[in-house]
Amino acid sequence: MGAQKRILVTGAGGFIGHHLVARLKKDGHWVRGADIKVPEYEASAADEFEVLDLRKSDNCLMATRGNIDEVYNLAADMGGIGYITANHADISRNNILINAQMLEAARQNGVKRFLFSSSACVYAQGKQLSPEVTPLREEDAFPADPEPGYGWEKLFAEELCRYYYKDFKFETRIVRFHNVYGPLGTWDGGKEKAPAAISRKVAVAADGDEIEIWGDGEQTRSFMYVDDCVEGLIRIMASDCRDALNLGTDELVTINGLVDIVSKIAGKRLVKRHNLTGPQGVRGRNSDNSMLRRVLGWEPKILLAEGLSVTYKWIESEAGKSAKYGEQMKRELAAR
Ligand code: NAD
Repeated sequence: MGAQKRILVTGAGGFIGHHLVARLKKDGHWVRGADIKVPEYEASAADEFEVLDLRKSDNCLMATRGNIDEVYNLAADMGGIGYITANHADISRNNILINAQMLEAARQNGVKRFLFSSSACVYAQGKQLSPEVTPLREEDAFPADPEPGYGWEKLFAEELCRYYYKDFKFETRIVRFHNVYGPLGTWDGGKEKAPAAISRKVAVAADGDEIEIWGDGEQTRSFMYVDDCVEGLIRIMASDCRDALNLGTDELVTINGLVDIVSKIAGKRLVKRHNLTGPQGVRGRNSDNSMLRRVLGWEPKILLAEGLSVTYKWIESEAGKSAKYGEQMKRELAAR
């Protein structure tokens, strides 16, 4: 490893932030985590963990105090497609407050580098109308036509990072994640994303059951395993690139295909019932990793079947322990 740094991870109580803290600690750094909640599934590995509402500027100043070298700003009000489609005002207001206050507090406290976690939701919707989508290159975010609410806020916060470099020479890095999945992420309750939602539906279904899929299932996406995501974050922070960079895989899969992979891992034959009124987001989305390869000489490489196998087993075990699904799963197992 390089020299020990003092690092702040916001959103450290959430999925990616929690994994990132564990990796940074393993690499020997001093880490402060900040979030409005503590991690749900296991304790944080951070040296300090502070429960703070980062919509408030005083709390952002507190989180960034004490000679912090790097900030990974992952805190955000976010969820899967159902959640981000239904909550435009809350999501936009909460996230612009977090991002604007965190940038300014980090600058005031002399932080050396600030990484902003953006999203593939910034890409123009008109370029994602077909399931056989051309992989999205970074310049496809303009002319701007992002996902309402969540995507507009991310695109504006990217611009804010660029202005902070232009006007103050404050070093910013911008990462556009394409769907991240893995264990220790939200898997129930409405904020979960497709890989977790499908893993849960498959885990609680009996062999031969029907499961509900939003849309006709022919919408496409690419999915990145969280270990690749964390590796990419650390490499992008260390790079000289101030432009937004895609971070995702280019292994395109339909949602029906995702269900088939998870069903195979679970050893279940299931019938898909398509709910055509369910929210499904853009029709197709994939990552073009040319710029990522050029800048880092690296790209995510963990295969979907490999990452989903670990994720499915974790969600199956969590669902089995839960009051909501546990009894039903025991009955089904006994009947098999
Ligand atoms: P997550 O919801 O698990 O983590 C986000 C964390 O931010 C949560 O723990 C939440 O409590 C915290 N937070 C929300 N409001 C806060 C506030 N006011 N003050 C302090 N903390 C607050 O999500 P994640 O998947 O770990 O995502 C991390 C980042 O990556 C987010 O910025 C998200 O927009 C971005 N992103 C994630 C994905 C993905 O597929 N997971 C895709 C694109 C972008």
